[in-house]
Amino acid sequence: MTNLPLLFDNHGREMSYLRLAVTDRCNLRCTYCMPAEGITYLPEKKLLSWEEMLRIVHVLNQLGIRKVRITGGEPFVRPGLMDFLQELAKIENLEICLTTNGVLLENHLDSLLNLGIKNVNLSLDSLDSERFFKITRRNDFDQVYQNLMRMIEANFKVKINAVVMHGMNDNDILPLVKFTEKHPVSVRFIEEMPFNGSGLVEEKLFWDYRRILSQIKTEFPQIEEVPMAYGETSKNYHVPGFMGDVGIIAAFSRTFCGSCNRIRVTSLGQVKTCLYDDGVFDLKEYLRLGVSDEDLKNTMIKIFGERPKDGFEAENNRKGVINESMTSIGG
Ligand code: SAM
Ligand code: SF4
Repeated sequence: MTNLPLLFDNHGREMSYLRLAVTDRCNLRCTYCMPAEGITYLPEKKLLSWEEMLRIVHVLNQLGIRKVRITGGEPFVRPGLMDFLQELAKIENLEICLTTNGVLLENHLDSLLNLGIKNVNLSLDSLDSERFFKITRRNDFDQVYQNLMRMIEANFKVKINAVVMHGMNDNDILPLVKFTEKHPVSVRFIEEMPFNGSGLVEEKLFWDYRRILSQIKTEFPQIEEVPMAYGETSKNYHVPGFMGDVGIIAAFSRTFCGSCNRIRVTSLGQVKTCLYDDGVFDLKEYLRLGVSDEDLKNTMIKIFGERPKDGFEAENNRKGVINESMTSIGG
């Protein structure tokens, strides 16, 4: 291990978690993430290569990163993902997690288990196939639901991510909580953020974290709060007697910035010190200059020494309005 100090930001927050978007491509078209026609995908050479990503993870691991989440776009649409995961699994002291829409999971479940990858966040905004179609603009509900069930049977640690949207899946909040009665999963309701690729920003969010909780309490008044772990973004709850639990992520209200331990690297190779910034450093161009690992470490330390204190400050620092799609950021 390196003699350098572990990575802290200028507000004393230890950076221990990397979210790596391995592609900007996706096989769904979720309305909250992308326009119907998709986004302009980048040519392969504009994306980080698998080798570059592996190097980034290695170097950040030496700086104290202990958890990496592979996200996208849809990670499983980029050829070579499983080989990449195999390499990542060789790194010591590194927990590997995945975020996926679940469409292509079926053929990879055994390999994931063999690599010791059990933490999977699955995006599923509705338990109703018609609403699923309305939200994702694709007809893949059965496939995703079956893969969810396969993962539960195989004892994966599954979190279901559901973005709550007014007039879209309001009616799914209670069924999703009910789903945790018989299934050992964590359902996490996420406030919708303005990263839908259209540049349209909602002034006032209807389904904020308070309203989501009030709605849950209409049917589950006995729900209990579970203490939040440091660095966690979801406030967690449990209905007594249920196998799973429930979380609410105030992603738009930004209530959790004080303990944020996340480094984001987008598929283009931009470093984000906050989800709401517009990319503070071009890591891809920097790596392609031929820099050493020590240069890379020192640069990361410098970048995180200038980190905004929260998502509101990061948004204010942006050069332009928010018009990017979450598919290129990684969530
Ligand atoms: N394709 C994978 C998936 O959907 O799980 C991984 C990438 S996706 C961008 C990562 C997460 O971001 C998903 O859980 C998705 O629900 C969430 N997300 C995307 N756009 C969002 C938005 N506008 N507001 C809140 N969450 C969003
Ligand atoms: Fe694709 Fe995930 Fe975005 Fe949906 S949320 S369009 S599945 S990247």
